[in-house]
Amino acid sequence: MPDPAGRAAELRALIERHNDRYYRQDDPEISDTEYDELVRELRAIEEANPDVVTSDSPTQRVGEAPTGAFPTVKHLAPMMSLDNVVDFAELSAWGKRMERYISGDVDFVCELKIDGSAISLLYEGGRFVRGATRGNGVQGDDVTENIRTIAVIPERLHGPSVPEVLEVRGEVYFPISEFKELNQRQMEAGGRVFANPRNAGAGSLRQKDPRITASRNLGFFTYQLGHVEGGPAFRRHSETLDFFAALGLPVNPEVRRLSALEEVDAYCHRWQDQRHTLDYEIDGAVVKVDDLAQRAELGSTSKSPRWAIAYKFPPEEATTLLRDIQLSIGPSGKATPFAELEPVFVGGSTVRVASLHNEDQVRLKDVRPGDTVFVRKAGEVIPEVIGPVLSKRPDGLPEWRFPATCPVCESPLVRREGEAATYCSNEDCPARQARRIEHFASRGAMDIENLGEKRVQQLIDAGLITDAGDLYSLTYDGLIGLEGFADVSVRNLLDGVEKSKERPLANLLFALQIPMLGGTGAERLAAVMGDLDRIIAAPEDEMAAIDGIGPKIAHSVRAYLDQERNREVIDKLRAAGVNLENRREGPEVEQTLAGKAVIVTGTLATMSRDAAVAAIKARGGASPGSVSKKTDYLVAGAEPGGAKFTKAQDLNVPILDEDAFLRLLETGAP
Ligand code: NAD
Repeated sequence: MPDPAGRAAELRALIERHNDRYYRQDDPEISDTEYDELVRELRAIEEANPDVVTSDSPTQRVGEAPTGAFPTVKHLAPMMSLDNVVDFAELSAWGKRMERYISGDVDFVCELKIDGSAISLLYEGGRFVRGATRGNGVQGDDVTENIRTIAVIPERLHGPSVPEVLEVRGEVYFPISEFKELNQRQMEAGGRVFANPRNAGAGSLRQKDPRITASRNLGFFTYQLGHVEGGPAFRRHSETLDFFAALGLPVNPEVRRLSALEEVDAYCHRWQDQRHTLDYEIDGAVVKVDDLAQRAELGSTSKSPRWAIAYKFPPEEATTLLRDIQLSIGPSGKATPFAELEPVFVGGSTVRVASLHNEDQVRLKDVRPGDTVFVRKAGEVIPEVIGPVLSKRPDGLPEWRFPATCPVCESPLVRREGEAATYCSNEDCPARQARRIEHFASRGAMDIENLGEKRVQQLIDAGLITDAGDLYSLTYDGLIGLEGFADVSVRNLLDGVEKSKERPLANLLFALQIPMLGGTGAERLAAVMGDLDRIIAAPEDEMAAIDGIGPKIAHSVRAYLDQERNREVIDKLRAAGVNLENRREGPEVEQTLAGKAVIVTGTLATMSRDAAVAAIKARGGASPGSVSKKTDYLVAGAEPGGAKFTKAQDLNVPILDEDAFLRLLETGAP
């Protein structure tokens, strides 16, 4: 049997340590999820063993005592923490718990949970006199001078009914755009790079020199009344927010008053999806009871009010082990360092690798294989390593050095003058070739199905291909028997390669990965020049004159086409019969339905409705949306649409079944 008192004491000490790192040093060494786990474990032990609960347990109190670096101030009313829920079931359970204390309908005010630092602002006679951090909820740091530098916090309140004394609470935050700029500046100056806007914001608030705080352009939203004397009486929280706005205090525009928990849940979900559209970080939503009389009945625990709950979003940061730093070689030869991580669940998926961008980034972040690192995955953005947890670094862990040679071909890696990127110097580096072939086969390029990264590498390793042109000389006999290539997969691959021969010229130009020529440029070039041989023969200025191309792209296209190695690839494509002209995709079909109007209704067994319409149009026919006297045929599949069917009958339009339709496509007669 584990000793509950011993484990509780151990957990308390651990949590204390992390509180100190988080609240006072703004430099946490575990993720919020890991922290929440510790608190949850401690709470479970305390609930099962009430005799081990101590009054100073972190489960019973808020935050961390004031730092001592500033004068300490006592809040006029305690600043509390929030209990939290993570899904609708827990939200409903919170709603149910409240029914023990109050009766009647409940209206909720939903707010964004801004991930910054809670502060209280004191106004006397409408004038700002004091600003303090939350601290332990009872006492905080007096950071008045720093708060004065925050432009959006008014020095003076305005309006007809300014209270004699007003203490309000809100969140100071670091706007994301400002945060990125700050980190960029810090990086360029070789200074401390902040892990996230929350830490940077909290650190900015506690600057000894207010000029530094001033330079950070912090934001602020007011969300809670603390104490008021000599002002209007309020019945609802939403009224207090309106009042704050009228006084000139910033209130978040996304606050909503809702009455059903289902609607509250929808609000939370909406913001979970849209959190990255904001210029400040949010880590959840806060749901509050609107009616102040109901709030009074609900009361608080020692730590949090019962009338509010934080709906927490899944975390976007986690810590994990950095196993190794490797280089990936791109199609241009660019060598990008990336982190191989101990798999970790973050931002909604398991992350195994994360980009480290370039040599300078690795040096500035000073991450080393063997480090515990913070990893961040926000929305659709590629996962990123934020930095190491230095306190967890094993002794003597060597600094990582950018390799001197390419990990694939061992040619020297070179960093070009004035560029952050490093490149493999070998034009024929197999990794570059592989990336080029992968791109050639990808969607939007030649769209060769069944040919992904792994297979490309396999074909290169088997000596079957060295460039994209070789794809067209792959044979059944050459492929069959390779690992993972049975009869069907060989046929599928060859079929995919065959079909790619018919792709439009623009796709081919894009597939060749001519430097600077993107998808749109390729479209323009194909549309105006019409044929690859014309492009090959065209002088640079002829291409430069094309709208959307210009001299730089034209120069790049010319240089690409003048290279022997590229011409060899094109020769292979030509020899294989790949389409080099600007003509329509797909083999020519006989125009059996020229001038005919054929309408399809109901479900066909052999093709979708869209495919049927496409087949009619490909044969020169038309397929209008409704039946008229001009309709030549109505094709009726299973469960035909009533209106079209009856109209066709009324107008004596011939009605065809599917077999007759297939004959019609083929021969022009049903
Ligand atoms: P909390 O952050 O979960 O919730 C309370 C806070 O929410 C308030 O103090 C306020 O600052 C903020 N807030 C933002 N918008 C608000 C709004 N509209 N209305 C009301 N409040 C709003 O609770 P907490 O007690 O401040 O901190 C606990 C959390 O902090 C933990 O769950 C953990 O995520 C994190 N933490 C992490 C570590 C670590 O080492 N990683 C250490 C300590 C705490």
